[in-house]
Amino acid sequence: ITENLDDTAALVTGASSGIGESTAEALAEAGASVALAARREDELEQLADRIESDGGEALVVPTDVTDEAEIQEMVDRTYEEFGSLDILVNNAGVMLLERVEDADIDNFRQMVEVNLLGLMNVTHTALPIMQKQGEGHVVNVSSVAGRKAYAGSSGYNATKFGVNGFSEALREEVTGENDIRVTLIEPGFVDTELAEHIPDDEQQEQAEEALEAMDALTPDDIARSIAYAVGQPSHVDVNEILIRPTDQE
Ligand code: NDP
Repeated sequence: ITENLDDTAALVTGASSGIGESTAEALAEAGASVALAARREDELEQLADRIESDGGEALVVPTDVTDEAEIQEMVDRTYEEFGSLDILVNNAGVMLLERVEDADIDNFRQMVEVNLLGLMNVTHTALPIMQKQGEGHVVNVSSVAGRKAYAGSSGYNATKFGVNGFSEALREEVTGENDIRVTLIEPGFVDTELAEHIPDDEQQEQAEEALEAMDALTPDDIARSIAYAVGQPSHVDVNEILIRPTDQE
């Protein structure tokens, strides 16, 4: 189903673990050269080694997406190394669940700066390259939490609802202008290290119990969705993929 991605260049944020790591591997397997961005350089180096030993091409670009100068450098280095930027996967994210009255304001800020503002700024920086090329594909990793709010998830919900709004506005802006596509991915529970960073013990326990109680998705399940969307012919824009474990309410 997926077209060959040979001669395309992809940039994946949050590539040091979970969904981003699997997505980078899937895109490389389909033929894309992949730039790997996140803060943990060692994990990115290990992933690059794996991709290269499987015959792929990878570039490590250590980046904190809350830093505008680092974003610019990440995009510039990717473009300089690969000569194009065809696929951007905005995947970096944190889920610091707390009830509003208990929330540490720094955690609210971190979620907004990574999940929402980071994604907006990376897109803003990469888009002119895609416009100049006359084609490109922006994939934004939102969540079921971008459609449905939950008690205890206010800050995270706010960022993911924001991602959904931003993505649809972007899609409408670029529609009809070259072949630029925008895809929103909305996963349900995926077994990754995301919940390990939840600061509130009770919230963390609940999230981990929920994960264990169901046959959760794997990062590869989401990577296949992303590979499917970006592998469509250029006249097909898969706008939105909502994907839950079969036993998630
Ligand atoms: P992980 O914790 O495994 O991955 C999160 C990634 O984001 C890591 O690579 C991390 O890298 C990166 N990241 C965090 N902060 C920053 C930062 N400041 N700058 C750059 N990169 C950063 O979790 P997932 O794979 O589950 O999460 C990936 C995305 O999927 C997130 O947007 C999440 O909200 C979304 N999602 C996850 C679901 C799930 O159930 N797991 C469900 C729905 C959506 P590093 O720490 O090295 O910087």
